[in-house]
Amino acid sequence: MATEVITVASFASAADGVEHFFGTRLSAVPVTPGRASTHEAGSQGHRARVILSVKQVHGTDALVVDRPVEEGERFEGGWDALVTDQPGLMVTVRTADCVPVLLHDPKRRVVAAVHAGWRGAVAGIVPKTAALLVSRFGARVKDLRMAIGPSAGPCCYEVDEPVLTRLRHVFSEWPSVVSPVDTQKAHLDLRAFVRRQALAEGLEAKHVATVEACTICRPEAFYSYRREGVVKATMVSGIALVPDR
Ligand SMILES: [Zn+2]
Repeated sequence: MATEVITVASFASAADGVEHFFGTRLSAVPVTPGRASTHEAGSQGHRARVILSVKQVHGTDALVVDRPVEEGERFEGGWDALVTDQPGLMVTVRTADCVPVLLHDPKRRVVAAVHAGWRGAVAGIVPKTAALLVSRFGARVKDLRMAIGPSAGPCCYEVDEPVLTRLRHVFSEWPSVVSPVDTQKAHLDLRAFVRRQALAEGLEAKHVATVEACTICRPEAFYSYRREGVVKATMVSGIALVPDR
């Protein structure tokens, strides 16, 4: 039976004071990009009170929310990482084939949601966001937990020479995440690339979990731009510090 949302027990739980989920096409998390909204109470059992989604631009900038957010508040601009230390605020990203990445520091009590397509990943959005948690919130990189969600998988995600050229330029161990198809094309394991970047940044391997699910070859579970050829809809993934009751 298909599940509505995917959670990673080893990554975070209510016992850690954190709730999180990776959406599937069966999820119905109501988000309006650029505007804070309230949760449909109880629809998915979340305790977060306000949910935030913003316009994504395939860049590496993070929106840091370190003050309370009201329902209806607007956030004009584009960001591909959302970071907050505010309990009850669920930060979310929308993806189809790109990689949703969730981060949290159980000691400093700060969470992040990251949208990492190949452009953002090559530009280093994941290590940049981890570094931001350290510089801005005093997190220690060894304390950071990370979960990498469903995305286009190495089984299906074909990329061409321009992408491979950029990848080789920034990542010396690129052969470890690429399987050649022919001289011009290869399959890229974007999740493995993101994981390797996180480990290079100093995260501990035991703290980095990956959901090995491919959005392209699992049509019953996921939307996929690559498979469907059009922007039908996206999956929403999010993380929140659980508020005090
Ligand atoms: Zn696949």
